[in-house]
Amino acid sequence: MIAESGQRILDFAAGIAVNSFGHGHPKLVAALQSQAGDLWHCSNQYLTPQLEKFSQELVNATFADSVFFCSSGTEAVEAGIKFMRRYHYENGEPYRQRIITFEGGFHGRTYGGIAAGGNDYARAGFGPMLLGFDCVAFADLDAVKRTISKNTAGILLEPIQGEGGVRPFPHDFLREIRALCDAENILLMCDEVQCGYGRPGSLFAFEHARITPDIATAAKGIGGGFPLGATLVTKRIAEKLPAGCHGSTYGSNPLAMVVGSAVLSLMQEDGFYDHVCARGEQLKNGLLVLQKKHSDQIAEVRGVGLMVGLLPHADGRAMAEKLLHAGLATAPSVSNVIRFVPPLNISEAEVDEALSAVTNVLSQEKM
Ligand SMILES: *Cc1c(COP(=O)(O)O)cnc(C)c1O
Repeated sequence: MIAESGQRILDFAAGIAVNSFGHGHPKLVAALQSQAGDLWHCSNQYLTPQLEKFSQELVNATFADSVFFCSSGTEAVEAGIKFMRRYHYENGEPYRQRIITFEGGFHGRTYGGIAAGGNDYARAGFGPMLLGFDCVAFADLDAVKRTISKNTAGILLEPIQGEGGVRPFPHDFLREIRALCDAENILLMCDEVQCGYGRPGSLFAFEHARITPDIATAAKGIGGGFPLGATLVTKRIAEKLPAGCHGSTYGSNPLAMVVGSAVLSLMQEDGFYDHVCARGEQLKNGLLVLQKKHSDQIAEVRGVGLMVGLLPHADGRAMAEKLLHAGLATAPSVSNVIRFVPPLNISEAEVDEALSAVTNVLSQEKM
């Protein structure tokens, strides 16, 4: 990116983990341009070839049997929350309405999203809230067990919390949660709007724990910058959702579908996930070296794939501002963790360049 001042800025914010292939990737531009001269919008009452193609590609690539398309992350979450409740309603257990969520979770800005979120800041002044959410401490299995009742519909979590500070749930915790859901006949929904879709070095982050959710959301990375969200569900849930029970006017519009197909096909190229893992290791290891050297300034470095967080002792926003002046855009979060979430096709030299910018800012502080 080039600022108005003419300064070149290396983009490790990527619109907050959105521009999976940077800005102006020729294959994405070509997909959008060719569709732009054709059909822009068509109600999803009709099945377009673009919708049919992309939904089939997603079903082939994932655990899902059906996909609901929308235009943002919070809508994808909202749909998942509705599907969990409707599933139990259709299943003869309409009292199963409550959803267990976690402190630090972020699920978007609609009423469903803020009610499910694990922070009060997003709810302040917007009451009354949507009812039915039980928020428990991060990765506290006993708290989850204590909270489950005959009214529980499901558990909603981000396998790696994004806004909550690049915080992965331990894999054995996720496996325990999956087992608990099976035993209690409740649903597991993974919100992968930020942590998923190629960024963890696999399509979804839950794969690392070798679990499969019943519902998963995707949004930020799925359109590479074009507004697109998706709620993926298994057949068990899809068959309980009567036609017309949920919908979206813009969801699955052909422009979004062709860009979605192009993004997914880039991710399916040989060696793509190896590249994400290698660049992620390079970035994380580089930051860990800097943390050792500047432990007075950096408290912690953590991350998975190309989702890396740096926790400074001082104010994260101020540090992100300094990084920007040094030519590196990052994504500060409410948890004070500075997120490094670059395009997934970032090069080795660009990661080095980012590490030099961090080095410069940290050494300035010393003087
Ligand atoms: C960003 C985000 C959302 C909301 O997505 P929007 O497109 O802003 O509505 C939901 N869940 C998670 C995990 C997110 O990071």
